[in-house]
Amino acid sequence: MTGRLYGLGLGPGDPELLTLKAARLLDAVPVVAYFAKQGSPSNARAIIAERLRPGVVELPLLYPVTTEIPRSDPGYRAALDAFHDAAAADIAAHLEAGRDVAVASEGDALFYGSYMHLHVRLAHRFPTEVVPGITAMSGAWALAGLPIAQGDDVLTVLQGTLDEDSLTQRLRGTEAAIIMKLGRNLPRVRAALGRAGRLDAALYAERVGTPAQRVLRLVERDEGPAPYFSLILVPGWA
Ligand code: SAH
Repeated sequence: MTGRLYGLGLGPGDPELLTLKAARLLDAVPVVAYFAKQGSPSNARAIIAERLRPGVVELPLLYPVTTEIPRSDPGYRAALDAFHDAAAADIAAHLEAGRDVAVASEGDALFYGSYMHLHVRLAHRFPTEVVPGITAMSGAWALAGLPIAQGDDVLTVLQGTLDEDSLTQRLRGTEAAIIMKLGRNLPRVRAALGRAGRLDAALYAERVGTPAQRVLRLVERDEGPAPYFSLILVPGWA
């Protein structure tokens, strides 16, 4: 008998935003894996730190590179592929030995989540179950008390890594929008929101679900780079 693989969505950061199912599985599985950048604490682990039982095997999956090599460099893709292959092999070894493995993923595991790279490598080989999680954007509009979309509104999810013209065009073609992956892209995102006439309505939220969480109007936020855990909300409805 092989073990089962679980892709566990953990929600945006508040441990109370775990589903009952994710909490039950975390209490039961012998192995918990999570992604982190080498040298940085794992955000997924922080969400479940209080819940990890003594004796549970932790399997940190440490990204070798993220921003150090440019995305356009063929070496970037190759390094990530090799890393995901190795991470999948480490998990497969536990599954083959009959141990269930939960991959703890912030937000929802299949929504811009690293878990998907393991899923495509393992789900056809081992019994697998994905447990949905509350996404960061959902946590953010709840924190802001912001009705994001209703009726015929189109909601578009954008990445701050897009170029300014694409962002502007997409923003002009939607009622509501979420913009993730801000970081050093914030000035460009701001410019695109201005060109699309949506700057005034935009809200900025960071570290949703943690004690450091905050939400404010984007026009009131300074020009400094945004933390990785931040996003922008543009309501479709006013
Ligand atoms: N799987 C996650 C998304 C991961 S992609 C989900 O379901 O939400 C990473 C991006 O998500 C970050 O760049 C940021 O824009 C957003 N994000 C994740 N957690 C966040 C948080 N706690 N607060 C604000 N934004 C967050």
